[in-house]
Order: sequence, then C-alpha cells, then structure tokens
Amino acid sequence: MIIVMKPHAPEEAVKRVAGLVQEKGLETHLSQGKEVTIIGVVGDKTKLSNENLTMLPWVDKLVPITESYKLSNRKFHPEPSRVKIKDHEIGPDTLTIMAGPCAVENEEQLMTIAREVKKSGAQFVRGGAYKPRTSPYSFQGLEEEGLRYMAEAGKEYDLCTICEVISEEAIEAAAKYVDMIQIGARNMQNFQLLREAGRSGMPVLLKRGLAATIDEWLNAAEYIIAEGNPQVVLCERGIRTYETSTRNTLDLSAVPVIRQKSHLPVIVDPSHATGVCAYVPPLAKAAVACGADGLMIEVHNDPEHALSDGPQSLTFPAFHQLMGELEGYINLSGRTL
Ligand code: PEP
Ligand code: MN
Repeated sequence: MIIVMKPHAPEEAVKRVAGLVQEKGLETHLSQGKEVTIIGVVGDKTKLSNENLTMLPWVDKLVPITESYKLSNRKFHPEPSRVKIKDHEIGPDTLTIMAGPCAVENEEQLMTIAREVKKSGAQFVRGGAYKPRTSPYSFQGLEEEGLRYMAEAGKEYDLCTICEVISEEAIEAAAKYVDMIQIGARNMQNFQLLREAGRSGMPVLLKRGLAATIDEWLNAAEYIIAEGNPQVVLCERGIRTYETSTRNTLDLSAVPVIRQKSHLPVIVDPSHATGVCAYVPPLAKAAVACGADGLMIEVHNDPEHALSDGPQSLTFPAFHQLMGELEGYINLSGRTL
C-alpha cells in the first residue's frame, strides 16, 4: 500500500503517519517529490485494518498495490529514477552507452578498446572479469587482475566502469575498482547475491534472466532496493524462445512495459540478445526509438580471436559507424549522450 500525503505536507505530519505504521510492525519507505511525499508501506496490511489512516492530518489517499514489488513499482515512485555514476546520470535525459569486450583479456586489449569506445562517444567501458560461462572449460575471466585493468582504463580515458559480479567476494573486489556492478542474466534470481549487491551500496545493473517474466525481474530489483540501495538500472538482454536464428529473442516490448510498471531506468543489450554482430545496429536503433535509457554493446579489437562472444562483438569501425547513425535517433528522443 502507498500513503499519498497532500501537497507540501509538513515533515511532522509525514513522521506521524510513518511512525504509526511502524508501531504496527510494518516498514515504511519515503519518497519525497517536489510537492508530494509518498509513504510506501511494506508488510502485512491487515495490521492496519483498525487505523483510519485517511483521517490523519495531511493524508490525501491510500493506494493499494497488488504487485509484490513495491520499491521498484512506479506507483510508489511516479517520477523516473536517475542513477548517478561519477559525473554521468543514467535516466530520462540521457542515452547511456556502455561498450567494451565481453571479457577483459589483458591490459593492452582493454586499454585499446577503452580508448576507441571513448573516441566514439561511449560513457562507460564494460568488461567481464568474472565470466559465468556455460562450459567450465571456457575462459573464466582474469578476476581481480581484470578489475585492476578496468580501473586503469576508466582513469586513463575518463570513462565510467562496469563489471559483472558472480559472488560476494567478487562484489567486495569490484567495489574497490569499478563504478558499477552488473548482475548477469544467469544470476538474476540468485537472491543472496541480490541482497549482497544491495548491501554493497554500489550502483547495480540488473540483467533480465534468460527465462524471467518482467514481474520476476522487478521482484529481483526489489531485493536490491529493499537493502536500502535504490541505485538500480535494468537491462533487457533477450529471452529464450523457440527461435534459433538468434541466440535469444530481444523483447523490446519490455522497455515500454517497464516504463509503465517501474520508475527504474532500463537499457537494452542487443549483443547478448542476438549473438550476431550484423543484428546489433538495427536493434540498437530500435531500442533508442522505443525509449530505452541506454545500450550495452560488445566491442572488440579483434572479434575473430576474442576469448568469448566474438561473433556478436562489433569491430571499432562498426561501433563508430553505429554511434554516428544513432545520433539522429538520440536527438529525436530528446536525450543527450
Ligand atoms: C555479459 O554482459 O557479459 C553477460 C554475460 O551477459 P548476460 O548475463 O546478459 O548473458
Ligand atoms: Mn558477452
């Protein structure tokens, strides 16, 4: 349930209502807008059945929420959220481009890629240091050494940095080196990891699970936010369907659906969605056209010899060309890079 206060309700009035709810053993989460304060109530509502909350001073109305996710719910937070990372803000005014290799392979490779994606206009360099590979015999990542290269690349080229984490130890290590952590599709419902990501206080990019519904995805985001960390960005990266011509099926409808259901920013990853570099540019444009807040794109200096995901990685010229072609779409969307 949400308690909507009347415009410009004084702080004492908000405290009184929140206090009463807490006394009954429920949790409250305040969302303070320019005019209106909203109190999100999490817990067993029946405990409030004898309270006439609408009669309290400055209470405007009570809005029931049927969805199990509250903190990621747009009803609780009507304004779109913004997630600030260094000087960059991910949200409704910007188009965030995260680009880089699937895996950090060595120092030189990452520095070269970071330099090139920066030149083409990306604000983030991405790169996996812990790779959740389907086969245990595939390259598993450089771990902390890879994180160190990420930090170096971010510093050298003034880029924000993002790395996937797959364990509590990886979160601790990533917190020392990168600006944002990523929970990958395979871990979207690793609830312990979600809680740890929440407790880390770091901005989190939460990818959609391979077979997750949008409601399951928003519930996963709820785990992170419920730990007191509202800095969550969602990433649509394709889902499993019966179609085999692409690695996954990019569910672009997730963008407007998320927009309606949640206040969280949502970006699109056409690289993992398709697995084919030729399909990445058209879908990247479509994602911007349908309102995505950003893109995650795999870029490699030598896709043919990449240690992972070569076939879906754009070369430098292809990425550069895509960034040029995106300009018109970005302008039309009213956003800036
Ligand atoms: C990745 O971004 O490197 C990755 C493994 O993506 P996903 O979790 O979407 O498969
Ligand atoms: Mn990859």
